[in-house]
Amino acid sequence: MGSEGVILPRHLVLVPCPYQGHINPMLQLGTILHSRGFSISIIHTQFNAPCPRNHPDFNFIAIPDGLPDHLISSGNIPVILLAVNANCHKPLKDRVAQMMQSEKPNGKVSCIIYDEYMYRAESVANSLSIPSIMLRTNTVSTFLARDFVLRLIDEGQIPLQGSIMEKPVPEHYPLRYKDLPTTIFKSLSNFVEVVKNVRLVGSSSAVIWNTVECLENPLLVQVKQQCRVPIFTVGPMHKSAPQLSTSLLKEDYSCIPWLDKQAENSVIYVSLGSVACISEHELAEMAWGLAKCNLPFLWVVRPGLVRGTRNVQQSLPNGFREGVGERGRIVEWAPQEEVLAHKAVAGFWSHCGWNSAVESIAEGVPLICRPNFADQKVTARYVTHVWRVGMQLEEELERDAVAAAVRRLMVEEEGLEMRERAVELKGRVEIGTRRGGSSFKDLDKLIDMIRSF
Ligand code: UDP
Repeated sequence: MGSEGVILPRHLVLVPCPYQGHINPMLQLGTILHSRGFSISIIHTQFNAPCPRNHPDFNFIAIPDGLPDHLISSGNIPVILLAVNANCHKPLKDRVAQMMQSEKPNGKVSCIIYDEYMYRAESVANSLSIPSIMLRTNTVSTFLARDFVLRLIDEGQIPLQGSIMEKPVPEHYPLRYKDLPTTIFKSLSNFVEVVKNVRLVGSSSAVIWNTVECLENPLLVQVKQQCRVPIFTVGPMHKSAPQLSTSLLKEDYSCIPWLDKQAENSVIYVSLGSVACISEHELAEMAWGLAKCNLPFLWVVRPGLVRGTRNVQQSLPNGFREGVGERGRIVEWAPQEEVLAHKAVAGFWSHCGWNSAVESIAEGVPLICRPNFADQKVTARYVTHVWRVGMQLEEELERDAVAAAVRRLMVEEEGLEMRERAVELKGRVEIGTRRGGSSFKDLDKLIDMIRSF
C-alpha cells in the first residue's frame, strides 16, 4: 500500500538471454514471483523465443533482434550476444516506455529483472528511472574465475598456451589454467567486450544468483564483501518453482514409461545440453561405449549435437540401435528434471552446464563430467573436487574409455561412494530451499526489496 492507501504497481519485466540454459532459470524466477503476487511480462528476442503455452499468466512480448540467419547459424555466441544487446536496446526501451504510460492499475513497471548477458537492459531501466536487478544464472565460482580471466586479459596472457594449461591456478583451487572460462570463439576483442559487460552491476539495485549457499559459501562471502549491492542466492530455482516446461524443443515423454520398466538405480542418463557440439567420430565412440558398458542408458541426441548435421539421429553408427535394442533409449529432447528425479536413474553423463549440474545435485544423482566450453569446465572441477559427486572424463572420447567410465560411476565402489555423497548433498540443498533455509530466506528478502521500490 502507498501512503494514501493506493495499491502500488507490482508489474515486473523479465528479460531473459535467448539460450535454453538462461531461459529456464528466468522463467522459473518469473513463476516464483508470480506465485507471490507479481504480474510478469517477459520481453524476449524472436531468436529462441520461449513458448508461452505453459505460462498463460505471463505476458510474452517479442522484440525485433535483427539477427541475420547466417549469424545465428555461425554459433559464434559472443558476436550473437553483442548483436542482441545492440539491436534490442531501442525496442526494449520503447516497449517499456510504452508500459510506463499505461493507465491500467498494474501497467507501470516496478522493476526490470534482466539476465547478466542482457546487460543493456540495465541502461534501459536507468534511463527510464526504473529499478533493475540482475540475474546471474551461473555459479559464484564461475564469476570469480571470469574475474581472474579479466585480470589475465589485462596482463596480455589470454589466449593461454603451452605448459601453463596443466598448472593449478593459485588462489582458485581446484581450477587449473585449462579449466578457466576462456572460450574465445573467433575474436578475443568480442569475448573481452562481453565478459567485461557481464561483470558490471551498474545502477542495478541487487544481484540474484541461481545458486545455493551450502554449495558455494566461502566464495559467496567473498563476493558479498566486494559487491556494493545485496546479493540474493535463491537457487536452485527449479526446486522452488512448479515443474512447468520451459523447453525450446519438444520433450519426448516416451522415455518415462521406458524408465518405469528399468530396475531402480540402473540407468545412466546422457545429455550434453542445448549448445555443446561434438564430431561425428565422437558421437560414434559415445554410441559404442554406451553399447559396451552393458547397462541401460537414456541418451539425448538433439538436432545440432553433431557439428554441421541437423538430422543427427541418422549419424548414429550402423548396427548400433539394433545392437543395444531395448537396453538403450534415444530421444531428441528429454523432460530432464523428471528424468533425473526418476528412481531408475543412477548417474548422469553431462556437459556440466550449471542448470544440468544443479538439477543432478538436487536429485542426488552423481555425474560423469564431460565439459565442452566456457563455465562448464569450472563446474566440472567443483563437481569432482569440491562436492566430490562426480568424475571427469578427460581423455579423448574413445569407446573403451567411455564404457569404463560409465561402469566406474554406475557399479564400482568409487561410484557408489559418489552416489552416497550426492544423496547427502541433495539433503543439504533441500534444506536450503525449505522454509527457514538460506535460499528461502533470501527469496523473502528479495521480494521485500522489490515491494519497497
Ligand atoms: N534440458 C532438457 N532436456 C534435455 C536436455 C536439457 O530439458 O534433453 C534442460 C536442462 O534441464 C537444463 C537446460 O536444458 O535446464 C540446459 O541448461 P544447462 O545450463 O545445463 O546447459 P546449456 O544447454 O546452457 O549448455
